[in-house]
Amino acid sequence: MDVPCVRVPRERGETARRALADADLIADEFEITVDDGALYIPVTDPDAVSALDLEEAADGDVEIVTREVDERETQTTPADLLGFDPSYERLGDVVLLDEDDGERALEIAEAVVDSDLPVETVLNKASKVKGETRIRDWEVVAGGDEGGDGSGGDQPPATETVHREYGCEFCLDLAEVYFSPRLATERHRVARQVEAGERAFDMFAGVGPFVIPFARRGAECVGVDVNERAIEYLRENARRNGVEGRVTAIAADVREVAPKYEGWADRIVMNLPHSADEFLESAATLAGDDCVVHYYDIQHEDDPFGPGERAIRAAAEPEYDVTVETRRRVRSYAPHELNVCLDVRLER
Ligand code: SAM
Repeated sequence: MDVPCVRVPRERGETARRALADADLIADEFEITVDDGALYIPVTDPDAVSALDLEEAADGDVEIVTREVDERETQTTPADLLGFDPSYERLGDVVLLDEDDGERALEIAEAVVDSDLPVETVLNKASKVKGETRIRDWEVVAGGDEGGDGSGGDQPPATETVHREYGCEFCLDLAEVYFSPRLATERHRVARQVEAGERAFDMFAGVGPFVIPFARRGAECVGVDVNERAIEYLRENARRNGVEGRVTAIAADVREVAPKYEGWADRIVMNLPHSADEFLESAATLAGDDCVVHYYDIQHEDDPFGPGERAIRAAAEPEYDVTVETRRRVRSYAPHELNVCLDVRLER
């Protein structure tokens, strides 16, 4: 079968394989092959591989090619057992489903558990994300206290897991905090812009998927979230990733914190699509003389960037010169609606 593969000289193969495994990009269902002094590593997402600093990690000479490779015979996938390819996301040892039909969810969950995937729990979405903290309800379909809410008595709840993303570890409980594995590539795109010594402020930090990789690159970080549990996990994740000395985690409404950090930030992350515009005054308070803001928004596909750009200009001008450096479509959110990011430089 033709599969996208990373081709790397054999002697640098292990370094490249480790970097790809850390980013969860290896297509495990296919064999890694050696041919004519090169290693071919099958990958799940060639675009995400391009965003990874693999050239640097493997010391150059890395290419993405399409190649015929064998399937690994030892792996039984959920699709093998079901006879169709179910749609799901992986978060640590948890599989996430989005199925309206409970019986179909159960059928997929049983196949996931019986397959060779290293999975402990299967959860099905039981509501949309809700309210200020953007948490949703989950039904435990397999593993944990099946059919329950995941609270699990004395055991860690079935909804808690440790997820790895681009070499960082995140412990989190989906019943108590917001987290989406789908944004990994986007977060990595932003993290690659961060330089050692800069001051980064995440206004809606969650469990730290921006803050932790920023701090690992040497930034001094402040993460704020109104959800106290998210801030507890952010502190734990800072310790797990060895960056607690560069992370300040604050449980509060960011509008109350902003005046204490007036003019502090070289970089600001605003990942609260739908209502980030209500926090732009606080962002302008936080911004230093030269500051990049990563502003996430959800808008109609006809004009996905206009409303955000106008709102930023209204909040920051004339005190700052406003330059939009990147307009990026992150993913489709709903029919005709896009989740987008504006990277905007504010210069005083
Ligand atoms: N940045 C994280 C991520 O990418 O996973 C979390 C993003 S989540 C969409 C938005 C977060 O903003 C939630 O964790 C929520 O609790 C937090 N939040 C909402 N209103 C807030 C406020 N006024 N001040 C601080 N945090 C807030």
